[in-house]
Amino acid sequence: MVEFTLTDEQRNLREMAHDFAEKEIRPVAWDYDRDSTFPEDIIKKAWELGLMNAHIPEEYGGAHASTLEGCLIEEELSWGCSGIQTTLGCNGLASAPVILAGSEAIKKEYLGRLTEAPLLASFCLTEPDAGSDVSGMRTTAVKRGDRYVINGSKVFITNGGYANWYTVYAKTDKDAGHRGISAFVVPRDAGVVVDKHEDKLGQRASDTAAVSFDEVEIPASHLLGEENHGFKLAMMTLDRTRPGVAAMAVGIGRAAMEFASEYAKERVQFGVPIAMHQAIQFMIADMATEVEAARLLAWKSAVQLDRGERNTMTSSHAKRFAADAAMKIATDAVQIYGGYGFIKDYPVEKLFRDAKIMQLYEGTSQIQRLVIAREALVPRRAAVEPPASTNGAASTNGAHAEPEPATAG
Ligand SMILES: Cc1cc2nc3c(=O)[nH]c(=O)nc-3n(C[C@H](O)[C@H](O)[C@H](O)COP(=O)(O)OP(=O)(O)OC[C@H]3O[C@@H](n4cnc5c(N)ncnc54)[C@H](O)[C@@H]3O)c2cc1C
Repeated sequence: MVEFTLTDEQRNLREMAHDFAEKEIRPVAWDYDRDSTFPEDIIKKAWELGLMNAHIPEEYGGAHASTLEGCLIEEELSWGCSGIQTTLGCNGLASAPVILAGSEAIKKEYLGRLTEAPLLASFCLTEPDAGSDVSGMRTTAVKRGDRYVINGSKVFITNGGYANWYTVYAKTDKDAGHRGISAFVVPRDAGVVVDKHEDKLGQRASDTAAVSFDEVEIPASHLLGEENHGFKLAMMTLDRTRPGVAAMAVGIGRAAMEFASEYAKERVQFGVPIAMHQAIQFMIADMATEVEAARLLAWKSAVQLDRGERNTMTSSHAKRFAADAAMKIATDAVQIYGGYGFIKDYPVEKLFRDAKIMQLYEGTSQIQRLVIAREALVPRRAAVEPPASTNGAASTNGAHAEPEPATAG
């Protein structure tokens, strides 16, 4: 049975997120983008309303929202400003490995920090020489007694400059490629150094930082799951977060389509609103189809996960299609605005810049195609995954047993 109807609670949640985006995010989005303002005020308000950390289980203070419900929030907030939503949503990325594989004590402490106060966490996978292929990472974690000592650096870390704690991937076996990676929780006060805040093309209200670890010591209990199982954990995390990134891309595409439609009805050339020209209508028609199709893919990949089904292929379908659709829609929105689309006084120029990141982070569009091609050429059993709360779930999931391009958030 295929069901596309949201429950009353889900509709209310979407309405609340939309209301927040309209009243709190939209009015400042273009100013925050221009000035690269980190949205601390919005973080506090969103946290108070429960629009952050919704996915965290109730026993650690969260609402235990489903992946689908997360998508509803992410589309709406991203409709407001995807840079601000990237800031608000990053705790989901950082905490997913903790939910999947952290010990009870680690979950209590670190998930609890996020639900007890408006704090941020970051996900640290990417390195200067290890992006799409994380098996080349150089950060190491060496066990000394009952502690690990971490050395290395990470780049492009969302909220990296502001995070209270970090999920860090490091080599525990330097010679084992992707099979030698482990994941750890590293509190900022263990000695994480913020080296640089990046100046970006788009999503300028989000923080993207380079961070480093110089002899940073953490208790051995901060290892997530088993040693050398960090790669699988990272892949399982991305299966969980890609539906939400797809939903964010839908939010950007929808915003661009709405601006372009309104403009096309007002702008008169050759004696009629340009919306009367079929060439413009067809661009709007394609936008509408792409928004609809991208949302359906995002929802399908989310619902599969919520049902405990393996969603590797559908989450890559959703992320790839929605990201490319957002970029195309934003490009056509600029086209419909004509020369004004190129000018910063008009809204679609920002959406054009913001859309680009959708094709890059959490696995580029090329990497999504690699995943899809592999799944299409060598189909795997649709294994039901262990419950999200199972310790060491990563080690029991054979979904990503073979080498594959690993991509970061
Ligand atoms: C704003 C922003 C926020 C980010 N946030 C985070 C974060 O919070 N945490 C984190 O860990 N990372 C984060 N990233 C990193 C992001 O996930 C990586 O940038 C991305 O995975 C690509 O890696 P790369 O930049 O090193 O590109 P590369 O891997 O060097 O790729 C360069 C190009 O080559 C292509 N390519 C690479 N390998 C192949 C292949 N096998 N086949 C075909 N094409 C290929 C890529 O698609 C791309 O077009 C962020 C990046 C940005 C820009």
